[in-house]
Amino acid sequence: MKIAFIGLGNMGGGMAANLVKAGHEVHAFDLSEDALAKAAEHGCATYSAVPDAVAGVDAVVTMLPNGAIVKGVYTKDVIGKAPEGALFLDCSTIDLATAREVAGLSEAAGYQMVDAPVSGGIAAANGGTLTFMVGGSDAAFEKARTVLEPMAKAVIHAGAIGSGQVAKMCNNMLLAIHMIGTCEALALAEKAGLDPQKFYEISSKSTGYNWSLNDYTPAPGVGATSPADNGYQGGFASALMLKDLRLAMEGAQTAGASVPMGEHAKAIYEAFVEAGNGGKDFGAIFTTL
Ligand code: NAD
Repeated sequence: MKIAFIGLGNMGGGMAANLVKAGHEVHAFDLSEDALAKAAEHGCATYSAVPDAVAGVDAVVTMLPNGAIVKGVYTKDVIGKAPEGALFLDCSTIDLATAREVAGLSEAAGYQMVDAPVSGGIAAANGGTLTFMVGGSDAAFEKARTVLEPMAKAVIHAGAIGSGQVAKMCNNMLLAIHMIGTCEALALAEKAGLDPQKFYEISSKSTGYNWSLNDYTPAPGVGATSPADNGYQGGFASALMLKDLRLAMEGAQTAGASVPMGEHAKAIYEAFVEAGNGGKDFGAIFTTL
């Protein structure tokens, strides 16, 4: 297939390279010259404007920072410029309202669109092992699967358009909450006189088990290897977790859902990021307790 790929940053760079490896012709565009040069090294054809990149393609993939940028790119340079019938896949993590609005505008202009945000970080993007949660019609999902599979460990049809973003925001809100809870339990165990490693051994096999404790233990030298063992470098940046929590709170407001623990998690990450810790792995909340 001919696939336009827009947004070749930390995530998109590796994803586009995996599409090339799978035999697709990838037309790459990014505002950054460095990102474009790297894409060319990975075998992408590079373009200096979006309308040129999307001309004649079967599908357009976007991996961009936020909803305002996604909306700007589609409304200004993709809708009406890509061939009629082309499939649009937005893999960015963005707010639900914008995801639905851009899909509506695309469909009204004769395109198919899916929202397909990902779980997994830069290593999974480079390794082709992302999990895609896809919102869109059955027909759009079937087409999208072919495009997504070379970049994926799993491609899951979440439901109608927007459902991918709903899955993403709910998953990451839950992740933030169990990460903070895990940090609190590890810190309390230690302060109350229990060796945190013993607490890990017990709770990871008891009802307290969860991914943050069992697979990503946020206390240095305890339990599973994680960024905590490397000064909280690498991993999933607290600033990105805060972005996802803000999206979840917006989504909750739109849906009329009550999310008191999500609100509290957002306030905790907000204070942590504002204190200059945005680049640290999100498990570094442990150091504040
Ligand atoms: P990034 O900032 O590294 O990359 C974004 C790229 O988009 C940059 O190269 C930038 O130059 C480009 N860009 C910005 N505006 C543009 C425009 N108008 N036209 C073309 N290119 C433009 O970000 P990232 O870490 O790759 O994240 C991308 C998306 O993936 C975000 O929505 C993020 O929330 C999501 N995500 C990231 C991770 C992660 O671990 N980094 C994990 C899951 C999901």
